[in-house]
Amino acid sequence: MRRSIVAGNWKMNGSLESSTELLKALVHGLGEGSSKAEVLVCPPFPYLPLAQKVLSGSAIGLGAQNASERNAGAFTGEVSVSMLKEFKTRYVIVGHSERRSLYGESNDLVAQKFAAVQAHGLCPILCVGETLEQRDAGKAELVVTDQLGAILNHCGVDALKQAVIAYEPVWAIGTGKTATPEQAQQMHGVLRAVVARRSAPIAGQLRILYGGSVNAKNAQELFAQPDIDGGLVGGASLKADEFISICKSVS
Ligand code: PEP
Repeated sequence: MRRSIVAGNWKMNGSLESSTELLKALVHGLGEGSSKAEVLVCPPFPYLPLAQKVLSGSAIGLGAQNASERNAGAFTGEVSVSMLKEFKTRYVIVGHSERRSLYGESNDLVAQKFAAVQAHGLCPILCVGETLEQRDAGKAELVVTDQLGAILNHCGVDALKQAVIAYEPVWAIGTGKTATPEQAQQMHGVLRAVVARRSAPIAGQLRILYGGSVNAKNAQELFAQPDIDGGLVGGASLKADEFISICKSVS
């Protein structure tokens, strides 16, 4: 039985004041047991100490939005996994489509980041997803299986025992245009089948989240699909009531 995850990706949003307010509202609204899902928030790096403090003792876990593939040294502007670990960060998003498209992160670099996250005992949330152009050209499955294949080739299938995948079609991120539950389920099924070809038990316990304009209205139907194990939520995770309602949509 896979326990669903709902993770909030705050991206580069908020202030000290608004982040404090949001965190407190989430702690209040998601008291122990009120969501069946494992709930996480992934704030910008400077707010991790604040989040660690406010979330302490609550059922809400902490994730980061990115990390360096390196451990330490002369890498101006980078943040290492060991630094994130000091703030009790348990998850790290790797390969988000904004990192891939805006910062040129290749499948190879994403695989190195994935390995670095696991080397420190944290859990990577690997994002995969196709653009609209790739979908229209009939290449969606090829693109996402290549993105997953880079991890399988670099880290091996056993690495997926301690990892989460998020299928996020690029055309659905921040656009208000959600994949239909059928479209999402189809791709989740493809991803699980790719892993199952290497290890059926690992595929069976792997959590695959859907991301792309998830909101309080569409979450329940998406999360009810057999291969969808929760969601990675961007915009809607910045509104406490909406995010709480999404978290409670997991049945
Ligand atoms: C995301 O940033 O991972 C995301 C899915 O964003 P949104 O929910 O805003 O589409």
